[in-house]
Amino acid sequence: MRSIVRGLETNPAVRTPIYLDHHATTPCDSRVVEAMLPYFSRDFGNAASRTHVFGWRAEAAVALAREQIAAGIGARVPEEIIFTSGATESLNLALKGAAELREKNRDRIVVATTEHRAVLDAAEALAASGITLSRVGVDSEGRIDLDRLRRTVDARTLAVAVMAANNEIGVLAPVAEIGAICREQGALFVCDAAQAAGKVALDVEAAQVDLCALSAHKLYGPKGIGALYVRSRPKVRLAAQIHGGGHERGLRSGTLAVPLVVGFGRALEICLEALPSETTRLRELRDRLLDRLVRELDAVSLNGSSTERLAGNLNVSFEGVDAAALLVALPDVALSSGSACSSAEPHPSHVLTALGLAPERIRSALRIGIGRTNTEAEIDFVAEALVAAVRRLRAG
Ligand SMILES: *Cc1c(COP(=O)(O)O)cnc(C)c1O
Repeated sequence: MRSIVRGLETNPAVRTPIYLDHHATTPCDSRVVEAMLPYFSRDFGNAASRTHVFGWRAEAAVALAREQIAAGIGARVPEEIIFTSGATESLNLALKGAAELREKNRDRIVVATTEHRAVLDAAEALAASGITLSRVGVDSEGRIDLDRLRRTVDARTLAVAVMAANNEIGVLAPVAEIGAICREQGALFVCDAAQAAGKVALDVEAAQVDLCALSAHKLYGPKGIGALYVRSRPKVRLAAQIHGGGHERGLRSGTLAVPLVVGFGRALEICLEALPSETTRLRELRDRLLDRLVRELDAVSLNGSSTERLAGNLNVSFEGVDAAALLVALPDVALSSGSACSSAEPHPSHVLTALGLAPERIRSALRIGIGRTNTEAEIDFVAEALVAAVRRLRAG
């Protein structure tokens, strides 16, 4: 694992490869792993077992995690948290579950053009059941057009899906304004908070969010667990998409993954304990990296708003440089071009396309996700490596 890059200043504080892809996933925090461990072995019970102490212990652990997550997003009561396998499942449950029980005259779902594929694909899948899809665009900085949204959401709108923070460009949405627009028309506000939870303050009550999707592995928890917040007052009615035993208030059957649930709760709690200081630290690291790139290279552009943005996110285009070639030239840095979530598809990023960027600029875009384990020494190492690689590629 240890290698010092040829031709670069050696820094013993830096171990490679350096992970800068925290929007794709995050490492599970060691404190989270520690919290989970007993629930794999000693406290292995099924949280649905009512007749013995093994079940009671598991149930108590799940109850605590539910409270941690409810408190972490400003839910009124823990019962509003439904555990799922991740944000993708949560968004499918939200959109398909709401569509199945819709009033006859509410047949439209409104999405932002920069939503995650989990929202776009689930909404498109509903076209077969008579739902029409309306897309609301963003400006050149990735901010949703609120006037357009206001004009689009009406009495026929079943749900509006807008993410709290974008997974490619880190742009934050004005969730309270969107919540107010939805409430006024009686439409459900479905908020994908997979990137926002644990990174920015979230308050589903204050923002009038009706359904909120979360994912543990984006916030230093384990993979394979997520949640859907389902508002209880006024009550949001959803049809279950997985049947079999009536777990999770009948909305998501199946034996709960108790260790993962425990880890999820602890992970969000840890994020929130350190939120202000970690936000400042990440912002400083990010600005340090961007300042250096802009200072030492020509024709570097930031994609997405510079202010309404996650602290750890950069999305940068290097004119004249192919991002794929740049990644090859940087074997010691784990980064992503465009979006890892859509790297299965060869198309240019739908998010950067929605910003109206030229194809050339999209092809030269890197997504940099700075996170909890990154240090200043790592950022300096990456800045140096990036500058050198861009110069080399531009020189032909
Ligand atoms: C990662 C991600 C998802 C999908 O979450 P999973 O838990 O991996 O299914 C959805 N939306 C956004 C914004 C994401 O970043």
